[in-house]
Amino acid sequence: MSLEKERYADVIVDVTQASMDRSYQYRIPPELENKVRIGCVVRIPFGNGKRSAEGYVLNIGTEPRIARDRIKPILEVPDNRVTIESKLIELALWMKTTYGSSLNNALKTVLPVREKEKHAVREEVSLVWPEKKTRVLLEQYTRRHYAAKVRLLTALLKTNELEKSYVTGTLKITPESLRSLEREGVISVRSADLTRTPDDLQEPEEKEEPCILTAEQSRVCSGILREWEGANRPCLIRGVTGSGKTLVYMDLMEKVLKEGRQVILLIPEIALSWQNVKRFRSRFGNAVTILNSKMSKGERYDQFERLKKGEAQIVIGPRSALFTPFPELGLIIIDEEQESSYRSENAPRYDARETALERARIENAHVVFGSATPSVDSVFRCREGRYAGFLLESRYGNADLPAVHVEDMREELRHGNRSILSEALRKAISERLARKEQTILFLNRRGYSGFISCRSCGEVIKCPHCDVSLTFHTNGKLVCHYCGYEIGQVSRCPSCGSPYIGGFRAGTEKVEAELHRFFPEAGIIRMDADTTRKKDGYARILRSFASGEADILVGTQMIVKGHDFPRVTLVGVLAADLSLFVSDYRAAERTYQLLVQAVGRAGRGDLPGEAYIQTYHPDHYSIRAAAKQDYDAFYDEEMLAREMMHYPPACNLLAIHGSCADEQRLVVAMGHLKRYLIRNQSRDTVIIGPAPENIRKIQDIYRQVLYVKEPDEERIIRLRRLAEKFIEINSGFNRMMFQYDLNA
Ligand code: ADP
Ligand code: ZN
Ligand code: ZN
Repeated sequence: MSLEKERYADVIVDVTQASMDRSYQYRIPPELENKVRIGCVVRIPFGNGKRSAEGYVLNIGTEPRIARDRIKPILEVPDNRVTIESKLIELALWMKTTYGSSLNNALKTVLPVREKEKHAVREEVSLVWPEKKTRVLLEQYTRRHYAAKVRLLTALLKTNELEKSYVTGTLKITPESLRSLEREGVISVRSADLTRTPDDLQEPEEKEEPCILTAEQSRVCSGILREWEGANRPCLIRGVTGSGKTLVYMDLMEKVLKEGRQVILLIPEIALSWQNVKRFRSRFGNAVTILNSKMSKGERYDQFERLKKGEAQIVIGPRSALFTPFPELGLIIIDEEQESSYRSENAPRYDARETALERARIENAHVVFGSATPSVDSVFRCREGRYAGFLLESRYGNADLPAVHVEDMREELRHGNRSILSEALRKAISERLARKEQTILFLNRRGYSGFISCRSCGEVIKCPHCDVSLTFHTNGKLVCHYCGYEIGQVSRCPSCGSPYIGGFRAGTEKVEAELHRFFPEAGIIRMDADTTRKKDGYARILRSFASGEADILVGTQMIVKGHDFPRVTLVGVLAADLSLFVSDYRAAERTYQLLVQAVGRAGRGDLPGEAYIQTYHPDHYSIRAAAKQDYDAFYDEEMLAREMMHYPPACNLLAIHGSCADEQRLVVAMGHLKRYLIRNQSRDTVIIGPAPENIRKIQDIYRQVLYVKEPDEERIIRLRRLAEKFIEINSGFNRMMFQYDLNA
């Protein structure tokens, strides 16, 4: 055999070490040529004695990295040694080619890394005194102008518990002030143990008997089991909220557990709530465990080790839980499959749904997707027969879907109503207050009011680093939500000097204030990024609302996700349009999904529900379809639009994101790239841009995007590879960052 044909394998002995780069090269002897594959276990000579060890093949190549005669040969490829690590390495390789990342990054995403880390000590500051007493003290401090203590107590009265780093950093409270308040017993400062399990998991477990499935539910369940016996296509359950998808999941899980296999259930992080986890714990007890993204690498590693040993059979978690190293994975369920959080924003920018399909293929497992409002992509695949589709059309107990009213806010304005609430919604709220029922008001924003602009010249005040408008906060500051830049309040327009400058659009705080004005007697809880910042803040707010401590819950996106509040009979969507005109081809889809989910919050108990959608565009199809909960009507209109505009799933769309501190150079380089791709394109390829991204710069780094549309998937992946190569070998792209998103 000639020397050129000699092949070498990069082998790593300990896949859990932090640096994956520590692989060693071994020669692949001709007799093992057919057996050595990426991911497989090999026996190799190790150390300088006659020891040997087992390792994993990470890569295969023909270039020796050291003198050829110093490279030792692989000794053997043990049979029947397909470990979970081998399978995950194979998955990493697939991610590398599909999403265009380095193998290292892909491996680090897929395999838990054991990292030596300092046990971070985090401290929490919490309020010990009761609220009334604290308010009296706060008044005294205010009179005496103890500004720091006033800031701290005001913050603690809102949230009870704050991270110490936030208190000393953002709030700028000195250690002396903290100590003096602690001495008086007003507050306490203690370390928070990061490894403690969530409170919910420590509740005494009483297993519940499984519910008897309704006829419709068991039809879906047995249909899916039949699919598993046969073609084993991915299954998509479209079921209106309250139709019992969760129960179907549980029955499927039980089937898989009985075969001695394990289950991964992905849910959006935001839905990883005590209510949700409790349901699974009460059915499956300690077989259920959770993973969350707040875990450190070390904690995740420990948890993975326990799961590898079979200490639990069901894991519930966000995107990253997909890589749980179960020894015999049987089923992956992805709930709320349309959620954008299933796409990673870091390299490899993987899509958990696609990656789940690949993992299931490697491990011969099943995949089930579920949603009340599935993505247009997944429904498209159902219609094409690539997925098996199942429908749950009725709510359990035939509970009616809420009656939905669309309120035209242009009309309200014409009748002189300038408030955030339409007449009808205001009336509906007071009826609920009289009947002691609860209301949820949903607003698609955070902060006190939206951007600040000039009524004389139209100038909007923007962040000098990020090219987004600054947002007004009640503390009087204007804040950038991307980089945190802030300035004090402005009284004159920086452009024309006019004093008529101010905020227009409402935020959750403004809504809360207006509600207090209309309904002074009502108990109101606000939930947004600010009130949930402290640990468990989110769970606590939901818990207190569920237990009836308030009449109205006002919040952003986060309140519309799968929570059951039986006493909520009214849902108001205050500004349905806010998500409709963002520049994203999925804007209408997102709006439809958000509205249906929001409306679904009303009337989940025995009481009938009602919903109001306030909009300036009552005729838009996504609003009309959402009001009728008519998915098919929405889908048909939306697919027409996608076909006309050549957007996925009608066509493939590749976004090439470039970023660089020097905008001029970036524009030139992106132009080069475009001309290169045009030379290699097919007859049907369309290349758009380059153009500045929506947010033109972030932290002084400029961003441009180039879009490629191409009906053929293989051809578009080829174009991406060509682009990667071109960028790699041309110095014109130095000091630039590139990211690729296919059909994202
Ligand atoms: P989804 O996940 O589709 O929103 P859930 O599984 O949460 O629906 O079901 C909604 C409610 O109806 C839950 O409180 C659930 O316990 C109840 N429910 C659904 N199906 C049944 C059933 N077959 N027997 C008893 N209760 C059911
Ligand atoms: Zn102005
Ligand atoms: Zn900024």
